[in-house]
Amino acid sequence: MGLFSKHECEECHTRFKSYGELVTHAQDAHKHRVVKCSGCGKLFLHEKDRLHHVKEEKEHKVDERRHRF
Ligand SMILES: [Zn+2]
Ligand SMILES: [Zn+2]
Repeated sequence: MGLFSKHECEECHTRFKSYGELVTHAQDAHKHRVVKCSGCGKLFLHEKDRLHHVKEEKEHKVDERRHRF
């Protein structure tokens, strides 16, 4: 259960501190196709990761609204 266990490359099993670093690595080293969030421009390795992020983003926006009004 180390700090580096979360973001592991599926192709070469190199571990990264952040998901962003893993995405950059997969693009550069393996020419991995990535998907982009249309809302914030963040990159993802899989469509399911992007969908999860979009869902979270929406929930956060709802929370923000709740605080504001
Ligand atoms: Zn790799
Ligand atoms: Zn986003």
